[in-house]
Amino acid sequence: MQDCIFCKIAKHEIETEMVYEDDFVVAFKDMNPVAPVHILIVPKEHVNNFYELATNSQKALIMGAVTDAAAAIADQFGTSDGFRLITNNGKDAGQTVFHLHFHLIGGEVLGAKLI
Ligand code: AMP
Ligand code: ZN
Repeated sequence: MQDCIFCKIAKHEIETEMVYEDDFVVAFKDMNPVAPVHILIVPKEHVNNFYELATNSQKALIMGAVTDAAAAIADQFGTSDGFRLITNNGKDAGQTVFHLHFHLIGGEVLGAKLI
């Protein structure tokens, strides 16, 4: 989608600290981290949010890739014993970038921390 920052990042048109990529997702460091490990896992295809993924024909492949990415990132950053995977769905949940993404946070005892 034109003018979508995460579409541009997924196409490598904007510089980020990329930590993982496969056919369906990219993952990169959040520019405003809330924990020592804060990675965004982002489908390459533009989907507005998790709710809209429900009607996407690729949803099983995308969620499978998100699962693989989360496990690989947890291994890469040593957080397999404790991380949180969060998606803010819609403005009332605090979504600010309207391209589906999952925050993987960890690297400390998280308590009740959200995004
Ligand atoms: P949300 O509020 O759930 O939509 O999360 C959007 C996240 O994207 C925030 O945590 C931002 O810090 C992050 N973000 C926005 N633009 C960029 C960017 N260019 N590179 C890395 N992270 C970004
Ligand atoms: Zn997009």
